[in-house]
Amino acid sequence: MGSNFEIILLGTGGGRFTTITQKRCTAGIRIIGSSLNLHLDPGPGALVHSVNEDLDPQKLNAVFVSHCHPDHYTDAEVLIEAMAHGATKKRGVLVAARSVLHGSKAGFDRVISTYHQQMPEQVIEALPNTSFKIDDVEVTVTETKHSDPDAVGFRFGTTEFGDFAYTSDTEYFEGIGRHYAGVRLLLLCVMRPAGKPWKGHMTTNDAVRIVEQAHPELAVLTHLGMQMIFQGPAKEAKLVEEKTGVHTIAAVDGMRISFGKIINVQTKDVTTKEQGLTKFF
Ligand SMILES: [Zn+2]
Ligand SMILES: [Zn+2]
Repeated sequence: MGSNFEIILLGTGGGRFTTITQKRCTAGIRIIGSSLNLHLDPGPGALVHSVNEDLDPQKLNAVFVSHCHPDHYTDAEVLIEAMAHGATKKRGVLVAARSVLHGSKAGFDRVISTYHQQMPEQVIEALPNTSFKIDDVEVTVTETKHSDPDAVGFRFGTTEFGDFAYTSDTEYFEGIGRHYAGVRLLLLCVMRPAGKPWKGHMTTNDAVRIVEQAHPELAVLTHLGMQMIFQGPAKEAKLVEEKTGVHTIAAVDGMRISFGKIINVQTKDVTTKEQGLTKFF
């Protein structure tokens, strides 16, 4: 039997004001499998929090960047340098949205320089509805509807334990649920609480609809904006759970999800009610 995937939520904040205030960290998500070591959406603080959590960035073999907003990309270049062992050798794979690699007519310049794009062994342009393999994980690129029109989400298919996925920033749209149907674990970027919609982003109400359609074993609300944080993410998670019957939790910084035959969630934040080890299944 293979080893579990460890999904470490180094950052659970999203949006400008959460980022500026660091009310929640914006360091992205580290995903570690038996040989996979991936940093997903390394926003501001990704390097510092990796090092502080003893997650050596030189062990990375994949960096994923979903779109051109700073809370998703700012530390990407320095993590690419780490992945390439101080740029001493071509190493690892960079997976990034088209705008991240090339810029776009929507007003975004490339956010990873050409110089840094030469450091990984492989660069994959993440186009919606394409898939590719990284180690033994089948990655499928999912669609979004966001202010960076090239923004994408990711679905990770493991051979042994089924799928988990990350929506990235998106508003609800017809058909979004099909991208996540059958995943066991769904990480949703829920910037806004119920009743406070904002174009291009997800509210708790939208999360309800997506979770209803995908019906995972566990849904995790993350990438929390300021209004969401003030509203109380745990309350919002409860709302999703009540409406969908799917076990739903609000992410906290440093939360570790062990994804295997069983999904375990461990939090170290003593201020949260979700403290301690929770077992699912
Ligand atoms: Zn964001
Ligand atoms: Zn965004």
